[in-house]
Amino acid sequence: MSKWSDTLSETSRCLYCDRSFMEEVNWTWALGLPEEKVLCPDCEGKLVNINEVGCEMCGRQVEKADHDFVDASVKLPATFVKEPVTLCRDCAKWKEAEKGEDRSVQQRSLYVYNDFLQEVMAQYKYRGDATLATLFSKKLKRLTRPLGKIDVVTVVPLSEERLWERGFNQAELLAGEFACCDVLQRRGETAKQSKRDRRERIAALQGAFRLSVEGEKWHWAGKRVLIIDDIYTTGATLRSASTVLYEAGAEKVFAVTVARATGALKNNG
Ligand SMILES: [Zn+2]
Ligand SMILES: [Zn+2]
Repeated sequence: MSKWSDTLSETSRCLYCDRSFMEEVNWTWALGLPEEKVLCPDCEGKLVNINEVGCEMCGRQVEKADHDFVDASVKLPATFVKEPVTLCRDCAKWKEAEKGEDRSVQQRSLYVYNDFLQEVMAQYKYRGDATLATLFSKKLKRLTRPLGKIDVVTVVPLSEERLWERGFNQAELLAGEFACCDVLQRRGETAKQSKRDRRERIAALQGAFRLSVEGEKWHWAGKRVLIIDDIYTTGATLRSASTVLYEAGAEKVFAVTVARATGALKNNG
């Protein structure tokens, strides 16, 4: 069978539920821009895209009767913007604490971290599924298009202990479509994130990172940096990592993640 007919007739297997499904051949494919489907329509349908946000800074969505917004009715397109003006209460507080020094991190996520995605991510985290990582990585790349020039792309490093346990850094796999450099490193160990409550987590992350040997070689002044991570929960990890970059002289730090937690979820970091 030729390659052509293989592609047209063959069914794919869902990376998550393992059921086979017919892959739709569409124009993007015909134009030589294959958009590979790795999840069956059922599973794909359980992923909730983030299309609207309420906070232009952290990309937080507006939820019903949300008291964390000044105006809980504002819904904006979930894209990066030049001047984030509409902020949630958390971001407004951070901005005030910065006293004119801009150390903000504009963050966007692909999906809502719902129960389904939580299962997918858990499976991905422990198996390190390269196909799924590529899919997410391509989508993350598309998400960063409005950012224009980015000088450095990096990931949130795992602790050595965790890296040893797992064998890979899931964020590094997500950065596959980017030219990624390890400019950050952990400053010693922190206990398992999932065993801490929110306040303890934030405290433990203050000063959790520093520049790596690679990072110290960079001339940071004026650099626009993008951090890639898997899940956004409190934003404390990103804030801690970006502080190091701002202190080194970076001009602007952005971040993208696959999933964004909205409410209380179990086992996340
Ligand atoms: Zn499926
Ligand atoms: Zn915000």
